[in-house]
Amino acid sequence: MAELLNIGELLDNIDMESYLDREGVTYKIAHGSSGTQINIKECPVCGSNSWKVYLNAETGLGNCFAGDHPPGENYSKWNFIKAWTGLQNGREIVNHIKTVAREMGWRARKTTSVEVVYDQTELKLPESTELPFKGRNLKYLSDRNIDLGTTGFFHLRYSKSGVFWYRNHDGEIKYQDYSKRIIVPIFDMKGELVSFQGRDVTDKSERKYLFPPGFSSTGKHLYNGHNALGAKQIVVCEGVFDVMATKIALDEEMSLRSVAPVGTFGKHLSHGSSEGEDQLNKFIQLKEAGLKDIVIMWDGERQALLDAVAAGQMLKGLGLVVRIAVLPPGKDPNEVAPSVVRRAYWDSIVVNNRNMVKLKMLAAKR
Ligand SMILES: [Zn+2]
Repeated sequence: MAELLNIGELLDNIDMESYLDREGVTYKIAHGSSGTQINIKECPVCGSNSWKVYLNAETGLGNCFAGDHPPGENYSKWNFIKAWTGLQNGREIVNHIKTVAREMGWRARKTTSVEVVYDQTELKLPESTELPFKGRNLKYLSDRNIDLGTTGFFHLRYSKSGVFWYRNHDGEIKYQDYSKRIIVPIFDMKGELVSFQGRDVTDKSERKYLFPPGFSSTGKHLYNGHNALGAKQIVVCEGVFDVMATKIALDEEMSLRSVAPVGTFGKHLSHGSSEGEDQLNKFIQLKEAGLKDIVIMWDGERQALLDAVAAGQMLKGLGLVVRIAVLPPGKDPNEVAPSVVRRAYWDSIVVNNRNMVKLKMLAAKR
């Protein structure tokens, strides 16, 4: 029996904020006269990186105000999802939307079986070389002070011309091009490969990061979380390269070597998923394994600090001691010296009622 599918109904079930969290999109919330707006850093249509995209949080309708944005290309939920995923085929977009709507609680009216959107159930990394290669690191990584040990620890690889193959719902074989990208494997809490990122090293690609379609729900994973099981103290960074930079900074100092760095993929924590498949659940697992203290070290801009405070309050609710590290304005851990990361760690401010004003004042001064 065919499923009755109403695309409008599916889209109604997609909450844009949750969608952006799921996909690891960088955004902030703005309250204005026209209601709550989502302000997105990077425009997936024109590539502008300067916070020019505004979507209505409820309807998903909106615009990009960047000068180079093609005229008339407005945003709706559908248009945003299409541009963000890069999917061309309408059926593939529908299937992606269906998967997301289902995660957010949508149930098909009539179904006979659970559909599998992508029938590739095994995740295979694009053809790539393990790094370091013959004892040498990739220039892109050494330029960013990522040493050989760290490169090996995070299982980084280089794809010269690799592709990711998958079969879409129509049975067509499709691929994504991972040429000239660093492959960053993403593991779940059991250490099993669940996704990966492909970071462009040419700085010419329109998309800095690529994710494999159907495996891209990085919003529910905690980067390096499996290596933090059993740690009493962790640092929560944003993005894989900040986790690497933070690990280097911690490892240089004997007294900080037991502190484990983990990473979110965006400055929000996913929570409230019915199957516990969200980031908050990963912190619960870490707590059960002995975690006591968390330092959140997102970047030093105003909104990032406010987001860190919000996430900190949520984590405090788990019965953990949470502190906020304050980096120099506009900087993230991979843009400062290791000593600055350590200083921010040591000087971090406990999230409690007494410090709330102080934290908000610090953010306001940015
Ligand atoms: Zn744009």
